[in-house]
Amino acid sequence: MEPLGREQREAMKKELRLKRVNRRQMILRAVDVEKLLEPDHPARAIWELVGGLDLRGFTAEIESVEGEAGRPAYDPQLLISLWIYAYSEGVSSAREMARRCEYHPAYQWLAGCEGVNHHSLSDFRVQHQAALDDRFAQVLGVLSADGLIRLERVMHDGTKVKALASGKSFRGPARLREHPERARERVRQMGEAPSEEERSAREVKARERAARERVGRLEQALAELQKVQAAEGGSPPRKERRVSETDPEARIMKQSDGGYAPSHNVQLSTDAAHALIVGVSVTQSANDEGQLPRALEEVERNLGRLPQQVVADAGFTTRATILEMAERQVDFIGGTVAAGERSRPRPRIDWAFRAAAFAYEAKGDTYRCPAGQELGRRGTRRTRVGILHHVYQAPAAACRGCVFREKCCAGAAARRIFRAENVPRVAAFVEKMQTEAAQAIYRLRAAVAEFPHAWLKAKIGLRQFRVRGLKKVRCETLWACLAYNLSQWVRLHWRVQRGAAPA
Ligand code: SF4
Repeated sequence: MEPLGREQREAMKKELRLKRVNRRQMILRAVDVEKLLEPDHPARAIWELVGGLDLRGFTAEIESVEGEAGRPAYDPQLLISLWIYAYSEGVSSAREMARRCEYHPAYQWLAGCEGVNHHSLSDFRVQHQAALDDRFAQVLGVLSADGLIRLERVMHDGTKVKALASGKSFRGPARLREHPERARERVRQMGEAPSEEERSAREVKARERAARERVGRLEQALAELQKVQAAEGGSPPRKERRVSETDPEARIMKQSDGGYAPSHNVQLSTDAAHALIVGVSVTQSANDEGQLPRALEEVERNLGRLPQQVVADAGFTTRATILEMAERQVDFIGGTVAAGERSRPRPRIDWAFRAAAFAYEAKGDTYRCPAGQELGRRGTRRTRVGILHHVYQAPAAACRGCVFREKCCAGAAARRIFRAENVPRVAAFVEKMQTEAAQAIYRLRAAVAEFPHAWLKAKIGLRQFRVRGLKKVRCETLWACLAYNLSQWVRLHWRVQRGAAPA
């Protein structure tokens, strides 16, 4: 076909009738709120499940009552459903949620096309920790009743989530003592005369509240610093200990990329049947050692019983944990337990002088230190959990004159090494972990235990907390875990009940 000439194209253009966009008109639309969402939308499932929970723990502080003056309070079913839905969609900002209530169909449906104040959303997220803990357990009860949780096998793991604080906010004792006084002075000045740039009474109040919160945080930072120093055992540290001014309960922790950042350690126990989270805790501990017994207490508190089997990696596998699991009659599948010496050095001993750097000489039952000195056996001692340690000590005169003393002795007069003896229960664990059956279960660990961590970080966006302090951080973690569990419940049960295949 012959291509059209310019004139022909121009002639055709004149014949076109296009519907032009008109932005200078006012439109009134009728909205059928119920029809904003399709019948199997997850927001409906969340609303339905939350509506069946006992929400009295969230209403205790509501003062607004029928027949009296004042604005009605928001319904806790609405605020809980909004937070769970928002987290499940990767939204963790109260302002963003309030914006979405204006235009997003799912938020509009949940809120009945009414606006929701972002301050109310923000306060509600962190104000009801005990009630939130109870609702988390109640939801687990629903999931159990639906056959999604069995507690036959639980996989456990921890992950570091960045705190709402920068590394630059960490201060030593001198600065921390000086700053609260300056902040208090600022609060006093605000009370006397608001500065010119403070235009409204609301702004003045907000600034005063922020200044008072800062004083509180600085005082808490000093208390946290004392806790950190007390954990040092009283001897002078090699480096000045520091605590964050903005989140005093955060600790510097190693990240998966090898870097270090102020963080909280989030511990999750996951039921292996459907990868649902059955236990949540948040700690200040930079490593996972010793966290498993506490994690099992959380599971027991939530579901009223312990799992039959628990699987965790080498970071959790210590002699003390093996004995505690045996004591609680929980079958423990773990990583490798160090053959002899204590697995971890004391925090102030340099890594180059950790126990593993000392060579054990079985013939004479002695150790030899990196400087070539012999450490003779000085007896035994039993730990609180019943582990027998053989104690070896270097000659005090040798350590006194040694150039490595500061790195090796951590303030002690002479270096000691403790060699743990495998009690029968530890020996039985080591033997069990050499079987193919135990190794096969252990190989399943990463896929199950790390799945919710990956979901929380990649889909829900929980890479950095939006709140400060352990209590609030625990609340945010619980919201994220509720959103995760309910997303799985919608996929595995709610939609199936409505005739859809599981996604
Ligand atoms: S401080 Fe004592 S134990 Fe440590 S390397 Fe020196 S001599 Fe050996």
